[in-house]
Amino acid sequence: MFDTVINNGLVIDPANRIQSQLHLGISRGAVACLSAAPLSGARVIDAAGLAVAPGFVDLHIHEDALDETTGKFDVKIFDCMLRMGVTTAIGGNCGIGPRDSAAYLAAADRNGLPVNIGLFAAHSEIRTPYAADNYGPAPDDAVGKMAADLDAQLAAGCVGVSFGLRYVPGTTAKELHALAAVAAGHKKIVAAHARDDAGYVVEAVKELLALAADHKAKVQISHIGSMAAFGQMEEVLALVDAACAAGLDIGLDCYPYNAFCTSIGSATYDPGFLERYGIGYDAIEITGGKYRGQRCTQAIFDEVRAASPETLAVAHVMRDREVDIALAHPRAAMASDGILVDGYGHPRAAGSFPRLINQYVKTKKLLTLHEAIAKTTVLPAETIGINKGSLAVGSDADIVIFDYDRISDNADFARPLTPPAGIEWVLLRGEIAVQKGEIVNNHLGKAVRI
Ligand SMILES: [Zn+2]
Repeated sequence: MFDTVINNGLVIDPANRIQSQLHLGISRGAVACLSAAPLSGARVIDAAGLAVAPGFVDLHIHEDALDETTGKFDVKIFDCMLRMGVTTAIGGNCGIGPRDSAAYLAAADRNGLPVNIGLFAAHSEIRTPYAADNYGPAPDDAVGKMAADLDAQLAAGCVGVSFGLRYVPGTTAKELHALAAVAAGHKKIVAAHARDDAGYVVEAVKELLALAADHKAKVQISHIGSMAAFGQMEEVLALVDAACAAGLDIGLDCYPYNAFCTSIGSATYDPGFLERYGIGYDAIEITGGKYRGQRCTQAIFDEVRAASPETLAVAHVMRDREVDIALAHPRAAMASDGILVDGYGHPRAAGSFPRLINQYVKTKKLLTLHEAIAKTTVLPAETIGINKGSLAVGSDADIVIFDYDRISDNADFARPLTPPAGIEWVLLRGEIAVQKGEIVNNHLGKAVRI
């Protein structure tokens, strides 16, 4: 007798090369049995006609904030993640994250979150106390202090270090290498929003490949679509493939949209961006405030950038075909890069995972369902080095049950938080978080430390 059984579903578990009609038993929060015959349990979920997969792992999100005074979270994006079938998300990306990652993870354990959460130690947060100017170098004596801060965060369970080099152009090679060496010493991953994009991305990717070579570090090139889907993707993927053939360990991630999104005050929107991307102001959409949903004129762009630089602005600029070849690349995990400011943002925060299946498996037929599930489970889990993304007996019973025929992303740029269809059940450690498409418990997630 199991605590919970999931009978009659199509179990898809790429980590263990499984895709067949099986019945799954859960005891004490872990997968206890996969059986060819139906099982009995205290709670029975009939998954007839549905797919049963490991809960999705999103290795690149921008996490909800912890209010340090109240010790509570302002939960917005985590609920979006859960509704998409994500059970583990990794925050602290692009060099931006909580200042005190240990306190954040402790608060996650105390409160319980909609999803399990792990963190990168975020470079910009480590750097700011020593060097407030993103465009200038840090003082010489600061690099050792930053390395010590990073070492402490990695010892406290952060999954690696993340850089937002595009946002902090003042990061010198010395600083970058010193911190990468610390992460490599912990055998943890170095993730980076590369130093440059579009016509300048090749040199920026070479910098990251050299980092991997010099430190024998595992390097993750973040949201490769928004870096190189402007005519450079084939060259960049060839460079990555050549580096991997030479023995380097390089990962990629990509979200399934042809528009990127970042703060309008960030370096991405510094003067020259129109020429860089070959666009006009009307390619830029404001996501929050009084111009929400509007395409820019120069006047609107200048006003919002000056008055509220934290506002997220979407650039409708990437080439579909290049996003497609990036997502189809065997080293590319699907990661949402979800980010919300005041509850507004890009639909990737609420649509990426269903969209991968809806668009890339069902419509475009660029991936098999098995491949898509691999890109959202075992590949991101192995990339980060966490013990998730598998339904092997003994694994945490983090599970998503979805209707392949009905699954669709309903979030769009006008309504970016619209929940998807077809995500029927989500379980964390065997407890039900989503039932028949509705959140019934958003406090089951715990901190993930490695
Ligand atoms: Zn980024």
